[in-house]
Amino acid sequence: MRIDILTLFPTMFESPFAHGVVGRAIARGLLDVTPLDVRRFATDKHHSVDDYPYGGGPGMVLMPGPLFAAIESLELPAAPVILMTPQGRPFSQAVARELATHARLVFVCGHYEGVDERVRTGLVTDEISIGDYVLGGGEIPAMAIVDAVARLLPGAMDEESGHEESHAAGLLEYPQYTRPATFRGLEVPPILLSGNHQAVAKWRREQALRRTFERRPDLLAAAPLTNAERALVEQWMAENRVGDGTYLDDMDKRIG
Ligand code: SAH
Repeated sequence: MRIDILTLFPTMFESPFAHGVVGRAIARGLLDVTPLDVRRFATDKHHSVDDYPYGGGPGMVLMPGPLFAAIESLELPAAPVILMTPQGRPFSQAVARELATHARLVFVCGHYEGVDERVRTGLVTDEISIGDYVLGGGEIPAMAIVDAVARLLPGAMDEESGHEESHAAGLLEYPQYTRPATFRGLEVPPILLSGNHQAVAKWRREQALRRTFERRPDLLAAAPLTNAERALVEQWMAENRVGDGTYLDDMDKRIG
């Protein structure tokens, strides 16, 4: 997969893309990410890329010319051109999976007050927000999206890992423990030390359901649950037990 990132600050990407899963995907030849300095495509002697907004008001707006020229320089085949914007569709694991199916992506990072509307209407094919808050630029959103997409590329992660993690199956992940088995008097749940893989899998599934119900009940509507799990969740909801703690004991008795 190849990703080009149009940005005013290409050096911002150096360290984040040198480490972790993105660095590994690049090193393994699965991913090629290239920041493209939009200022190179400015046409006046000051290398201007932004200007005052028509109609007045605070801040600066990225001009369309340099962004159009930068995209045209890529001589793109049909590839999504994605604007980072708080007005875009919300980013999620499902969107990451969708992006990971493309061989090529282009991200456009805004700055200041954002980009000229004609960039949105005439250049980009998709608009993504990483959450309902406003950042100073599109670079951090682009990094977040590249990271989430890179770890989905086949071969980027060690096998198996990723199958059960949060949002993969529509639920939050179960709690994880590592050594030591007792830390400051806090024990690891004995079942995890039992060596019984089936019991561990069942416990983890229960924990994932429990966690999701407790923290993100909104996710449960779309999560693929068994009929028994669905019935239990519906009952918890009817009983309006979110937050009172009693459903925890209840679940231990009835699930499975
Ligand atoms: N005035 C704009 C916000 C500009 S923020 C508005 O009200 O919609 C400056 C730039 O940061 C944006 O152009 C965008 O590229 C990026 N940005 C800020 N918050 C973002 C978010 N939540 N998701 C994705 N990109 C964001």
